[in-house]
Amino acid sequence: MLFMYGLPKNKSMLFIIYTTGRCNLKCRYCGGSFNPEIVPWKIKYSLSDLEHLIKDKDIVGFYGGEPLLNLELIKDFMDTFTASRYVIQTNGLLLHKLDRRILENLDTILVSVDGVEDLTDRFRGRGVYKKVLENVKKIRGEGFCGDIVARMTVTEESNIHRDVRHLLSLSLFDHIHWQISFVWADPWKNLWRWIKENYEPGLSRLFDDWLRKLGIGIVEGIAPFQGVLKRIIEGGPAPPCGSGSESFTILTDGRVTSCPIAVSEKWAHVGFIKEVSRERLEELKPQISEPCISCSYFGICGARCLYTHVERLWGEEGMKAVCECSKHLIDLVSENIEHIKDSASDGNLTLEDILYPDYNNTVEIIP
Ligand code: SF4
Ligand code: SF4
Repeated sequence: MLFMYGLPKNKSMLFIIYTTGRCNLKCRYCGGSFNPEIVPWKIKYSLSDLEHLIKDKDIVGFYGGEPLLNLELIKDFMDTFTASRYVIQTNGLLLHKLDRRILENLDTILVSVDGVEDLTDRFRGRGVYKKVLENVKKIRGEGFCGDIVARMTVTEESNIHRDVRHLLSLSLFDHIHWQISFVWADPWKNLWRWIKENYEPGLSRLFDDWLRKLGIGIVEGIAPFQGVLKRIIEGGPAPPCGSGSESFTILTDGRVTSCPIAVSEKWAHVGFIKEVSRERLEELKPQISEPCISCSYFGICGARCLYTHVERLWGEEGMKAVCECSKHLIDLVSENIEHIKDSASDGNLTLEDILYPDYNNTVEIIP
């Protein structure tokens, strides 16, 4: 049985704009550029074709491929639209090319980096870690004061405590977020062992560190803790990324999809920009089914990810494994609400100081 979840009308929406299907890296997770026959490397529509869809109150995220390979589109877009917030998800290699005007318009920059140098370079390519950090330092030096999020891809070779602590220690990123890669990376060797001996204890240690810091007035920007807390207090869409209800993606050929990853899956295809109306997008709701709708964690987890919920690429066992990780995170936060409040009070912090994100900036919340 399928249940439908969505938002009331007239809410602001997140539009994820593919600027190109091309990428300048070939990471082990995804293999680089899209096949141009599926996601063209050049934009095949005119920006004026988007005018009926995008409103001033909306959030726009640039995505790809590597979105900075098409800086012209980003500039033209900012000249044409006045979105309330601009976000970019980038591998960071071309961040130094951003001019002041674009930087001033950007609110959040999500930069792919996996943790320590050796791990990042093993998956993303030699020298990537150093270049990315150099570029982040450069834009900070140029006065960028928005939110810079280190977006990690976590595999069996990650050590969640070591890698998150490492990225926090650089004092370059406002927030750290991660996605567990059960699908894209090489086959997992011993997933359950990694979950039980590495991921869960590492997450618990990170949480203890985070609580201690709250007690002395420091909010470490660990997005999954902050985002889960926000969902416990304020609720939010299912899935948490808003795919198919408050977030839609526009591919380079003008197709509208409910999820940026689902570039060729029929279930995600909404229509072409010229055929789809704003009203229709506001009415759409993702279809979420079992096991999520009967799951006691559904209110917070929100089925985690629409793409994996529908595709189930890793079978029953993989589904159990990823749910175990989500539940452990949710338990850590929900069973410690009183501790969080006490620590925040010791550190003279309000809940508003801790909750994240303020708006849907493409951080998916549940890793
Ligand atoms: S924990 Fe698993 S089953 Fe439960 S809502 Fe999340 S994804 Fe669905
Ligand atoms: S979390 Fe899943 S559904 Fe949401 S944008 Fe990412 S891949 Fe798509």
